[in-house]
Amino acid sequence: MDNARRSSAHQRDSAIPKPFQPTVRLLIVQPTPFCNINCSYCYLSSRSSRATIDDRTLENLFAKLFASGWVRRRLDLAWHAGEPTVLPVAFYQHAFAIMERHRPGNLDVCHSFQTNATLLTKAWCGFFRDAGIRVGVSVDGPKHINDLSRVSRSGQSTFPRVLAGIRLLREERVPFHVITVLTGESMRSARALHDFYAAEGIEHVGFNVDESEGEHVSGLEPGPASWRAYKDFLAEFWSIAAREGLVKSIREIDYMVRAVYQQPVRRIDAAPRRGNMLVEPFAVLNVDHRGNIATFSPELLGQVNADYNDYIIGNVNTDAFAALPHSGVLAKMSADIEAGVEMCRARCGYFHVCGGGEPVNKMAENGTFVSDVTSYCRMTRMGVADLVTTGPNAG
Ligand code: SF4
Repeated sequence: MDNARRSSAHQRDSAIPKPFQPTVRLLIVQPTPFCNINCSYCYLSSRSSRATIDDRTLENLFAKLFASGWVRRRLDLAWHAGEPTVLPVAFYQHAFAIMERHRPGNLDVCHSFQTNATLLTKAWCGFFRDAGIRVGVSVDGPKHINDLSRVSRSGQSTFPRVLAGIRLLREERVPFHVITVLTGESMRSARALHDFYAAEGIEHVGFNVDESEGEHVSGLEPGPASWRAYKDFLAEFWSIAAREGLVKSIREIDYMVRAVYQQPVRRIDAAPRRGNMLVEPFAVLNVDHRGNIATFSPELLGQVNADYNDYIIGNVNTDAFAALPHSGVLAKMSADIEAGVEMCRARCGYFHVCGGGEPVNKMAENGTFVSDVTSYCRMTRMGVADLVTTGPNAG
């Protein structure tokens, strides 16, 4: 073949889309939508349902996923949403045994639980420790702040039970981190939050923010005052933690330091967005108790949306995994999410550290995936990026 024909054949070949081979990095299983408490900022509309995933669904999920070739050497598996510990330890021992029967020998599975800690017992601690499970505890700080939002189903304080759970984890030597949802009150209370964590020996913290998701509308005032309050909170908290050395890691700061300083130098418009799993089809796979499958932002599963079939792209009991990439819903979502990412890429100076944001927030705040900036990204991306480039003590 002469060079001209070789070149034109090459151009034709590269225009043919290669078969799409998904890579699942994070699997989130919702074994039950039920939660035993009733936080005011919760977006889970079915958190009163006691429905539970059954054996057939677990068998189909693990058999089909592991046979698909979509999982490489390591899989993070999060048991999440509603409260996972409302089901007994025996449920998870059985579920893990089902998973193990199908797990390829060369695959590492790293389990994690996010819990409100109100139901923890020594048996739970032993299970977490023996299975090497990563544990995250949801608590919003000291009692007067925690109980503003994290209340029982009858509206009572959850704090004593949460604290008992945290202390039990420490006594039983189960490593854990804490996730706190920031509200208007807690953003004014960096010192109080820090001192609570320090007093309870909590060394690793992450801060979510009261964000609009699904039916929940954030209680934060929309606009620059809230964006500034978030940044000021994080700056003050970081400054205290760095000075006193008791809280060792702040998830948002650690993430952004890596994103800002460990990127190879490249033009912003050439920046890849591989770092953003939430806009990559199948990088995050979410499965609910009925076997429904969704991808992109985990919070989408369980929400209602007529345009996107409630974000459900298939079901582990009725669909072959090979058919999922051809789902019409997936194609529509992918195209719209991708269009939103391209708007971010074209217009946002933070794209290289963000990768196009979170589809669930774009939908909740802007009413469409085909959009860019949100209040959420102004706080958690732009604000944090500005902070780590100036340092915690910059005025
Ligand atoms: S910071 Fe906001 S506007 Fe910028 S890339 Fe991220 S989501 Fe898009």
